[in-house]
Amino acid sequence: MTLMKVSSFAAGQWIAPGANARPIASAITGLPLAEAGGADLDMQAMIDYARNVGGPALREMGFHDRAKMLKALAMELGQHKQELYDLSFDTGATQSDHMIDIDGGVGTVFVFASKGRREMPDGKVYIDGEIEQLSRNGTFLGMHIATPLQGVAVHINAFNFPVWGMLEKLAPTLLAGVPAIVKPATATSYVTEAAVRIMLDSGILPEGALQLISGGTGDLLDRLGPQDIVSFTGSAQTASMLRSNPNILKNSVRFVAEQDSLNASILGPDVTPGTTEFDLFIKEVHREMTTKAGQKCTAIRRIIAPEAQVQNVIEALSARLDKTVIGDPRAEGVRMGALVSAGQKTDVLQKAAAIGSESKMVYGNPDDIDFEGDVDPGAFVKPMLFHCENPDTATIVHECEAFGPVSTIMGYRDIAHAIELANKGEGSLVASVITGSGEVAREVAMGAGAFHGRLYFNNATSMKESTGHGSPLPHMVHGGPGRAGGGEEMGGVRGVLHYMQRTAIQGSPDILTSISGRWVPGATEITGPAHPFTRKYGELSIGETLNTKSREVTLADIEKFAHFTGDTFYAHMDSEAAKRNPFFPDRVAHGYLLLSFAAGLFVEPNEGPVLANTGLDNLRFMKPVEAGDSMKVRLTVKAKTRRTDEYGEVRWHVTLTNQDDELVAEYELLTMNAY
Ligand code: NDP
Repeated sequence: MTLMKVSSFAAGQWIAPGANARPIASAITGLPLAEAGGADLDMQAMIDYARNVGGPALREMGFHDRAKMLKALAMELGQHKQELYDLSFDTGATQSDHMIDIDGGVGTVFVFASKGRREMPDGKVYIDGEIEQLSRNGTFLGMHIATPLQGVAVHINAFNFPVWGMLEKLAPTLLAGVPAIVKPATATSYVTEAAVRIMLDSGILPEGALQLISGGTGDLLDRLGPQDIVSFTGSAQTASMLRSNPNILKNSVRFVAEQDSLNASILGPDVTPGTTEFDLFIKEVHREMTTKAGQKCTAIRRIIAPEAQVQNVIEALSARLDKTVIGDPRAEGVRMGALVSAGQKTDVLQKAAAIGSESKMVYGNPDDIDFEGDVDPGAFVKPMLFHCENPDTATIVHECEAFGPVSTIMGYRDIAHAIELANKGEGSLVASVITGSGEVAREVAMGAGAFHGRLYFNNATSMKESTGHGSPLPHMVHGGPGRAGGGEEMGGVRGVLHYMQRTAIQGSPDILTSISGRWVPGATEITGPAHPFTRKYGELSIGETLNTKSREVTLADIEKFAHFTGDTFYAHMDSEAAKRNPFFPDRVAHGYLLLSFAAGLFVEPNEGPVLANTGLDNLRFMKPVEAGDSMKVRLTVKAKTRRTDEYGEVRWHVTLTNQDDELVAEYELLTMNAY
């Protein structure tokens, strides 16, 4: 069989492995499969290519252009999934493991594409938070913006998810506008290389946006500068070595790490055998022990159950593990495949032995090599369950991550004790609790939140739609404190911001409007050539303003509105009662009456480019309006967002003022406008 040559893509060239390439064996057969690395890569040329070619091209695009690019990439990868599945079996993964890695990776890119379009501006500057009022008269204001880092993102990935592991970092990086150099773990780099080829061959990415290092990174980290960022997933040992690189320290290079994690799952004190929730707990733990043969950063390593339930959990879990068919992942009926390599198996067995020095093995036998299909047992291992009787004094079980189908059960006395045990992992990616009790959930959130990047609660209500203890979702933050690396990835736009610099901006309203592309109150108001509702999306300028005429609000209006809508609240109807209310001088107009009158003042009634009123944000009523007061409206184009080729969203800043120019109400109106 000819060996796959896992190439690198450096400065626009595919470079085949060199003389000192590392061999890669199939996890199923143990036979040589591929070779990677050993080529003499010019790291400085790669960095320069990313910084000088990829970065400027990506920054030339706005968030929405990059989001569209991500969607196209996800579709392209989706069309080539079968190729990636076919390759992935040799990593030891089953078809359902591929669904997590490959489909999960593609799905993650789709989510970032959609979030980029929906939650980020149709421009190049991201605005973080509200305008800060720094002056009495509003001529000097503050805001926070985020702009893309102007360096390169170096992604160093773990072996367990060759596709998802790359894409969960790449999607937010590209959306931010930053080029990436991806370095997959060598053991599964042939799958990553195939996915990178699909993306590069598609021509969707601008030149320089994506490069690949198959094999070692040489002196890459020694050459990074203050605008660069490293995102790492792997062992705590490697993370610690890389993050203490003197050049990384000297230049304050951002280093995002996701590393070992002794994730825990707690069986709630309210859950007993024979209930749906007990079965749910067993199902979740079993899934986390066997998916990817336990090689998941989020796998459940510690099972924390009420002391009275420990034996019941051992029995139920053992019965379920007994039914798990382990063997060649291509074979029919196989549910769990191999570890990634014989070397990884040695590591897992050593760590299991260490755990066994303070816990009793209650399920499994490392010497059992009876597997389904014609396989080399070198990388296969059956699940092992340990019982730790003294979890308060034990240490290894809370510190040592056996990265395979290995888990330890321990008993707890009460929920405070369960929290204490969960926190003994000193920082994890996820802890889960199966409970129907809101009180237990609240106690865990308060007691364990600071120690875990994600808390996953599940019960009979949520189980059908829940996504699983072990599934990091692109919408949610993935990472954890302490042992888990202290980093954070994904979490929607939060994950994009890791690749951007947040900058505090101070200046006049006009300056802030120019920088952000959003009209800031106090900035110049532009008078357009016609009523803004008669102007197409493309014709409207930021700051274009309509000032309406004024109308009086009468007692008859208030009465009519009250009886028409049925809103006869005393503040509108009963003078004496209204006066007793500290907020009102007398009967006042309904807030909704004012909004309705405002629409009556600013709309242009004829058919035109305004297609729909899609909402209203940040509504505040500041000053009551009494009968006899009058009101007028100012409507200003605050922001514009393209939605399709036919229409876009216009965000209008609306203020209602009274006869003394005092602010009565303020809000943002959203309309869909034709091009
Ligand atoms: P490593 O830390 O050895 O490797 C992780 C990544 O770092 C790989 O891409 C690896 O490349 C790279 N790397 C290693 N040394 C260097 C270096 N000197 N310079 C640059 N890059 C380097 O982890 P493994 O993938 O081998 O897994 C080992 C253990 O880590 C597992 O058994 C498990 O305990 C833990 N782990 C934890 C994960 C988590 O998310 N919690 C995920 C994966 C692993 P290469 O493969 O070429 O050496």
